[in-house]
Amino acid sequence: MKQTVSFTRNAVNVFFHILTRCNLRCRHCYINPAQHGTADLDTETIIAWLKLFHDPAKRSNLIFLGGEPTLHEGLARCVKAARSIGYDSVTIDTNGYLFHDITKKLSPSELDVFSFSLDGATRETNDLIRGKGSYDRCIAGIRDAVSRGFEASVIYTVSSENAGELPRMVPLLGALGVTRFFIQVIGIRGRSAEEAHASPENPLQLTRERWLELVPPVARQAAEAGIRTIYPRVFLEKGEPFECAGNVAENYFIFPNGRVYRCPLCEDYPLHAFAIRENRLVRTGKINESDLFSLTIPEGCVINKLVQDGNIEYDSAGRPLYRIACCLLKDEETP
Ligand code: SF4
Ligand code: SF4
Repeated sequence: MKQTVSFTRNAVNVFFHILTRCNLRCRHCYINPAQHGTADLDTETIIAWLKLFHDPAKRSNLIFLGGEPTLHEGLARCVKAARSIGYDSVTIDTNGYLFHDITKKLSPSELDVFSFSLDGATRETNDLIRGKGSYDRCIAGIRDAVSRGFEASVIYTVSSENAGELPRMVPLLGALGVTRFFIQVIGIRGRSAEEAHASPENPLQLTRERWLELVPPVARQAAEAGIRTIYPRVFLEKGEPFECAGNVAENYFIFPNGRVYRCPLCEDYPLHAFAIRENRLVRTGKINESDLFSLTIPEGCVINKLVQDGNIEYDSAGRPLYRIACCLLKDEETP
């Protein structure tokens, strides 16, 4: 069954990059150390910052990210602390290397999901994007997590480099015991922005036509195979309302240098709406991303238009043929 996951007013979603360090160097990595910092946060600071975002009146969801978050020695302690603070769900996003024996230091009652990044159904394609050896390590990591009773999900970032293998992910995930599949659209930020500028004749993002013929059917097939599948809407239908999550939902994207964004598309720029200073959350001055959320343009998302407008098509009169949805608007296919 397909449904749109509407922005919820009664939840807080915290995406916490506890470091930017990583053992891999993926071609589309969105981490931008010049903007996000290079230091690892220490464990006590992470726990102090976690307290700033938990809201007991709302469902509070936490995702630990990096860089590679399992490179942080204190990660298991941070997960346990998040539970004590009262977070309702805790996820670790990982490239699958699972450093510091993280699966042995946590139990499935403490961690809701290990979310693995895999960008190809085959070793060749995944390793071309994510680096030699990363496919085998990720598959081994999924097997390890599943064998210990953890729920495992997989994120697949679709680009022109790996779109052809998306359908082959369904049997692979089924065989591995993965229960959730997140299909993501590649963002033109971080390293992808460098690549996109270097070869504008080979766009990384799929056209609307290609996206629609590929992604929703694969999501349906995955759901039919028992795997809950979530993917971004990207292109709004004619007459469908546009809504910016920055105006109506509470999403916080936290970086080790203390920047806190409400919109992931802004992360290459010093447009963050909040900052953490001396362990306190403060609003930044003008102009920041919040000033852009309320602007209305015929293309839909303002930041998309500013930073990655290659996904918009226009008619001969210069009118956009469709609007781009908020990057946080998702569709879900449930088994
Ligand atoms: S594993 Fe993640 S953080 Fe590391 S290089 Fe790849 S995309 Fe970037
Ligand atoms: S992606 Fe666009 S619509 Fe979504 S939060 Fe950012 S600015 Fe708003």
